[in-house]
Amino acid sequence: MTHGDITDDTEDSAASRLRHLTTYLREHPVTGPEGHSYISNAPRTKPTHPGLPINVRVMEHIDRTVTEVVDLVREANPAAGARPDRLSDIYRWSVEKTVNSPEAVQQRRDALAYQHQLEHAVAAGDVSVIRPHRCPECRTFSLMWDRTRQRITCTNIECVDESGLATTVTFARLAHDHVAVRASKKSSAG
Ligand SMILES: [Zn+2]
Repeated sequence: MTHGDITDDTEDSAASRLRHLTTYLREHPVTGPEGHSYISNAPRTKPTHPGLPINVRVMEHIDRTVTEVVDLVREANPAAGARPDRLSDIYRWSVEKTVNSPEAVQQRRDALAYQHQLEHAVAAGDVSVIRPHRCPECRTFSLMWDRTRQRITCTNIECVDESGLATTVTFARLAHDHVAVRASKKSSAG
């Protein structure tokens, strides 16, 4: 059985980036009463605060992103059932369960997967995934990851908001634009 567009282990995808991140966690085990609670179906952990060790933040990141995918699938298809046990299967599952959903839902699902592909990469320290995207405001390749403020900013000095501050861009905005461009190319190609 084939899965059309679904990517395999070697390709850069949300699933491969998530696998990389979970491997990172296994290599940097958390010691403490919480353990690897993100594996279980336990309720979501409390929001991150900056004092937390990196692996706890990564666990919260994984927890949040998995919940986002599950919520989108359940909303589109209440009969979707339980999510797969293996976290990196969640993106394939989300495609399978929304394959008959309206085009807009599928585009939202694809944008979320692409958003997570970028977010998982940055969470694992690979910030090079940001550069290849044009800034949505000035359309130049001037975006970079600001480690201190933990967000994507535009380095084009002409590209500022009304207060004169550098433009900041969300992962969701980048992903939305990327998927919209990809969809329009696909439809014009026939
Ligand atoms: Zn810009």
